[in-house]
Amino acid sequence: MDEIFIQSEEQRAILESVRRYVEEEVTPRAAELDAETDPEAAFSWEIVEAADRMGLRTMSLSEELGGMGIDSTTTAMVVEELARGDLGISVVFAQTLKIAAIMEKAFNDDQIQRSLVPFVEDPRAVLSICITEPDSGSNGVLPHSTPLKTRAEKVDGGWLANGMKHFISNSNRSRFFMVFMQTDPSKPMTEGVSCFLLERGHPGFTVGRVHDKMGERLANNSELFFTDCFIPDENLVGEPNQAMKTLGAFMPSSNAYAAASILGVAVALYEKSLDWAQTRVQGGKRLIEHDGIRAQIAEMKMLIDASRAYVHLATTCSDNQEDGWDPTLGALPKAMASQAAWKIATWTLEIHGGHGYMKEAGVEKLVRDAAAFLHSDGVNRTLFLRSANFLEW
Ligand SMILES: Cc1cc2nc3c(=O)[nH]c(=O)nc-3n(C[C@H](O)[C@H](O)[C@H](O)COP(=O)(O)OP(=O)(O)OC[C@H]3O[C@@H](n4cnc5c(N)ncnc54)[C@H](O)[C@@H]3O)c2cc1C
Repeated sequence: MDEIFIQSEEQRAILESVRRYVEEEVTPRAAELDAETDPEAAFSWEIVEAADRMGLRTMSLSEELGGMGIDSTTTAMVVEELARGDLGISVVFAQTLKIAAIMEKAFNDDQIQRSLVPFVEDPRAVLSICITEPDSGSNGVLPHSTPLKTRAEKVDGGWLANGMKHFISNSNRSRFFMVFMQTDPSKPMTEGVSCFLLERGHPGFTVGRVHDKMGERLANNSELFFTDCFIPDENLVGEPNQAMKTLGAFMPSSNAYAAASILGVAVALYEKSLDWAQTRVQGGKRLIEHDGIRAQIAEMKMLIDASRAYVHLATTCSDNQEDGWDPTLGALPKAMASQAAWKIATWTLEIHGGHGYMKEAGVEKLVRDAAAFLHSDGVNRTLFLRSANFLEW
């Protein structure tokens, strides 16, 4: 993190402890876990428990609930710092920090007692948000009118759910879930989807296949199945059929956190490029002394600084919405940061020459990781379309 972006001594102290955690707990384990062929084995409870010991896992919750009440900009900085060590670890906590904060705002007192209180006490509790399903990916991001196929039908005292979700981050590991289901199939998604709180082990709610991913491997993603799953009325979050409209208001920083995660990968790539360019000698001088390489390194820095500034604009505005809010800030920072990271990844490979292609250089893992956010949290094209819908013509 460039010094210029740090705004307070409290932020500095938090970032220093996160940096220490990454150095001691994440970096030494990341390459080995990433190389596991079984996708489930790439996840580490030791890393999660170590994060819990330093207060990281719960830091987005208010102090009353046992958290640190950190703001969105500090959360984004933490998430970026984690991703400098490993993208998967950043995603495990970006999701958990984000969803915990949403739950605190969106849940009623009873739901908070039943979810966030045990969440704080359980050092292994991580969280998931479940929208995507096989026939609804970008549809859920735009959102498109086509209803979700995962349905919850009103029955006496609750809802009967059937269907499935896939690609869901943390979901084979999570303790609590926010699950989006169609509760009025005659309506488009914006008028017919409700959100439910579920706990792992709830009858009729099971985990399916864990997806084998090309990158971001230290985070798990899996399928979830709902088979005649009875969900009591008290697990409905907010008003029925309004989830796509109302819950969006509780997660304005979500896109910026995704941007911060991929930005951390961009920084790791940039640092590798700079380091290599300062040591590798060809054409009688260090690569950094060749004009083409020097210019490329400066352009990498520009892309990183501009993406970070965009992330911080989005997080600052989302925490101060009374001063105005531009909804494109909830969609575009991730598109910008992921495009920057992908560009920086290909340039880092180029700067390393054949060495970059050899796994021993550590660039290959970062390139696989850098691809993750071209699609995660919404395909970039979909986010541009979503933003275009906010603009007046
Ligand atoms: C690593 C990872 C983690 C994820 N974690 C979660 C999670 O925790 N929770 C969750 O709910 N989801 C999660 N997702 C799902 C993610 O949000 C979706 O993959 C994403 O929204 C795209 O959906 P899709 O994969 O079905 O692609 P599709 O929607 O099938 O898109 C395929 C292509 O078609 C284009 N396209 C689609 N619709 C349109 C249109 N109307 N106009 C023009 N072009 C269009 C897209 O831009 C894309 O290029 C995750 C995905 C990944 C990869």
